[in-house]
Amino acid sequence: MDFRPSANIARLKESATLAVAAKARALKAAGIPLLDLGQGEPDFDTPAFIREAATEALAAGATRYTATEGILPLREAIAADANRLWGPGDVSPAEVLVSNGSKQSLFNACFCCFGPGDEVLIPTPAWTSYYEMVTLARATPVPVMGDPANALKVTAPQLAEAATPQTRGLMLNSPCNPTGAVYTRDELAAILALAAERGWWVLADEIYQRISFDGPACAALEVAPTRANLIVINGVAKAYAMTGWRIGWTIAPPAVTRAMNAFQSHTTSNAAAVSQHAALAALARRDEADAAVRTMVAAFHRRRDAVLAALAPFPAVRVVHPAGAFYLYVHVGGFAGAADAGAAFATRLLEEDQVAVVPGGAFLTPDWVRASYATTEAIAVEGVTRLARRLVAG
Ligand code: PLP
Repeated sequence: MDFRPSANIARLKESATLAVAAKARALKAAGIPLLDLGQGEPDFDTPAFIREAATEALAAGATRYTATEGILPLREAIAADANRLWGPGDVSPAEVLVSNGSKQSLFNACFCCFGPGDEVLIPTPAWTSYYEMVTLARATPVPVMGDPANALKVTAPQLAEAATPQTRGLMLNSPCNPTGAVYTRDELAAILALAAERGWWVLADEIYQRISFDGPACAALEVAPTRANLIVINGVAKAYAMTGWRIGWTIAPPAVTRAMNAFQSHTTSNAAAVSQHAALAALARRDEADAAVRTMVAAFHRRRDAVLAALAPFPAVRVVHPAGAFYLYVHVGGFAGAADAGAAFATRLLEEDQVAVVPGGAFLTPDWVRASYATTEAIAVEGVTRLARRLVAG
């Protein structure tokens, strides 16, 4: 029988990163050594104390369903963490919903808050899935281009200008994938004030919040004038090197949390019990966790400095200052006269220099490519050096 995609996914696009990833796989399979700057996950193992906590939880019987919203001690730890940022300190575990990764948390929030006729502002470039999630909710993503002179970030006045009476919400991501840019306290405060005034939902994706190099990245809870329109999304994947465990969460007003919980109860139920116990160790055993995060962030920081030093001999190569996360966003506009310069450059770099990067078209900015330095310093430096040479050579 012919498969005709339903109206639900009629506009779903396959990830624009797939073509390069498929080529990279083919090259690897053919035995060609590849410098892979494509991946978006830490190259570290999950810290040992977290893995041990999971083993102990399994032995103690963490093998069954939990409450859809997650085990109470984990939600308590998440609320306690939030209360360290939120002045009034009134975040309660009832406002926390634990999901299968922050990706599911983001989808739950989009699906429950937005629908047909709604417009959602997306500071662009942004993580590729934001556009698709908003579209899957049958709302309309409205990309708002960031200013290249300001690390491709958007400002409150730019958002105000892009808004219409249909605007219902805003996706925020600081530190940002793909650019590595970090919003300052003032920038974030101005955007949150505007959103509160206009009654827009703010989905603040803070999955990279702890990975910041030029000082701590400001969290939305530190500067939001109210939590009434704020949905904070976070998880353990990036900061704790726990991508495979699939634990993320939302902190949202009770009515939103109840709706997302009901939705999740009919789609996936609870996140894996054993993973919840692992996440609990990451959040509750603060001293060990902080030491592990500090070590990993210090390594990302060293690599960040090393790739910037590798670029120093190539002043013509323009990058967004990488202040957080583990990405370097490189301007390749005009490369080979291609309309999609990022794709043309990524293909050439892969085929001729054996370096894999992600074309910026995936993030609605085709004049750029994303290089990840979540790999060894040697690979990151060699990869970025080849990238710069290729860009200069044309
Ligand atoms: N948000 C951003 C900006 C990301 O880059 C990613 C992963 O790449 C996610 C969310 C998803 O993370 P998780 O593994 O928690 O689903």
